[in-house]
Amino acid sequence: MTIVENAYAKINLHLDVTGRLDGGFHRVETVMLAVSLCDTLIVTATGEKDKIEVRGNLRDMPEGTDNLAGKAAMRFFEAIGSDHGAVIFIKKRIPMAAGLAGGSADAAATLRALNRLYDLPLSKEKLTEIAAEIGTDVPFCLNGGTAFADGRGERLHSFAFMPGCAIVVACGGEEVSTPWAYRLLDERWDGFSETSAYKPRGVQALRAAMKSGELSALDGATYNIFEEPVSAERPMVSEIRKRMYAGGAVAARMSGSGPAVFGIFEQGAQAIDVCNALQKDGIFAAVCRPLGMMKKFFP
Ligand code: ATP
Repeated sequence: MTIVENAYAKINLHLDVTGRLDGGFHRVETVMLAVSLCDTLIVTATGEKDKIEVRGNLRDMPEGTDNLAGKAAMRFFEAIGSDHGAVIFIKKRIPMAAGLAGGSADAAATLRALNRLYDLPLSKEKLTEIAAEIGTDVPFCLNGGTAFADGRGERLHSFAFMPGCAIVVACGGEEVSTPWAYRLLDERWDGFSETSAYKPRGVQALRAAMKSGELSALDGATYNIFEEPVSAERPMVSEIRKRMYAGGAVAARMSGSGPAVFGIFEQGAQAIDVCNALQKDGIFAAVCRPLGMMKKFFP
């Protein structure tokens, strides 16, 4: 039994850290959007006892249950009370550790694929519970579409729809680890303690812009708290954003803790020109579009 399933990247149209939760985690408010840039997974349920194998086209991708897709398969079989195994082949296209949730998307795609292969034994609620145990972004990746998330970023709420547009996602190859990016924020805002001077931004402007259906209204309505501190240390982020704006983007922002950048374009031709020019300079770039919710995977 084999199924082919795409794992879609996410971008953050809004990302703010608003304080600390009990237990020390940063409290996050974010608006995420699924885009058509994707990895492709070939998931085969083997029936081989407890054997989970994950292979891919990139050498530095973790294997077995160290891979988030492998971990998702293990949790799925535990939840349905089966000792079956799976072989998962991942064609990676989403840059790794770039702020695009590629690993989380692979985990979510594995859950969707296995739930279909086994005739939908798990409800959407149960799959979402398993997803949240695997990682903060996995519940969002399970559903796609657009969502507001709070808590650690795993509690999802519906949000306005994204108007039709072309999106260029680009990544200059500089490394960013998420813990490092949070350390930069903590240094700047006193660890988001009660005495910290940081004032959260709020998503009202973004909601209004998206509801208006006018792409041009997005200019100035997107936000990422990581962008300024990470850009100061990773110059390609600002460089790519500048090139997106020069090429006609209505908005260009870093996604997640970076270093990937996305640009939103009204004109598809402009998006393609910017993408081609970035690729010519050896920068990873892809043109994609916003994606709606994925409904067919749940009972
Ligand atoms: P995060 O913000 O959660 O760190 P990200 O979106 O920046 O994630 P990912 O591509 O998800 O980046 O990769 C984060 C790390 O997760 C990688 O460095 C890698 O070691 C590990 N990982 C585990 N499984 C996968 C996978 N299927 N694809 C990519 N990375 C994976």
